[in-house]
Amino acid sequence: MRPLGIFGGTFDPIHNGHLRTAFELAECLDLERVLFVPAADPPHRPVPRVRAAQRLEFVRAAIADEPRFALDDRELRRGGRSYTVLTLEELRAEVGPRPLVLCLGMDAFLGLPAWHRWTELTRLAHLAVAHRPGFAPPADGPLGELVARRLAATPGELAAAPAGCVFFFAGTQVELSATELRSVLETGRDPRYLMPEPVRRMILDTGAYARPGENEG
Ligand code: ATP
Repeated sequence: MRPLGIFGGTFDPIHNGHLRTAFELAECLDLERVLFVPAADPPHRPVPRVRAAQRLEFVRAAIADEPRFALDDRELRRGGRSYTVLTLEELRAEVGPRPLVLCLGMDAFLGLPAWHRWTELTRLAHLAVAHRPGFAPPADGPLGELVARRLAATPGELAAAPAGCVFFFAGTQVELSATELRSVLETGRDPRYLMPEPVRRMILDTGAYARPGENEG
């Protein structure tokens, strides 16, 4: 059974850094599918700029032409805080022993010890951590210890077990964040080539990230 990837995020909005990373991870780890799981109410960060249902539609449009990518709206349907551990528990119950791979950028991985029930995550899934400009892997502390115990040197190790490994992935590092995208949009600049064209079109048509006060009335 080929592994199933899970790419969670606020996606406020989705951009080419997310997409390229997910695509390269799918190729490297031979993931049968990557589920994009938008967070409804992400813990540990300010309220998203755009409401969840609209962020979800941007993700849907962004991944529509890639057969390996799928949208998973369970965190919107579930309601409450969008805890990844709950999502992984649900998925584990659905897929049986198939390997699950939670895909993260290095910045997100470094924040893991603040996540709800974080020590249970590697019981439920592998972690594939993509390098991201400006963020170094942990050398010590609880994450350093996790890496020392669970580091996988090859993708094959992830395919051979349902969960439990940490894999660092050094693919193309796209120096782009949703924060930067929001700034581009708020200042009236054009996000062309930073995100899929259908998403750019939807955002410009709806004025979703325009500076407050613009596109009103
Ligand atoms: P923000 O700037 O609002 O914090 P973000 O661009 O980091 O947003 P998120 O939706 O918070 O995007 O991130 C979802 C996941 O995608 C996280 O695991 C994050 O590390 C990863 N990610 C985001 N941008 C990149 C990128 N350019 N390269 C690799 N991973 C990324």
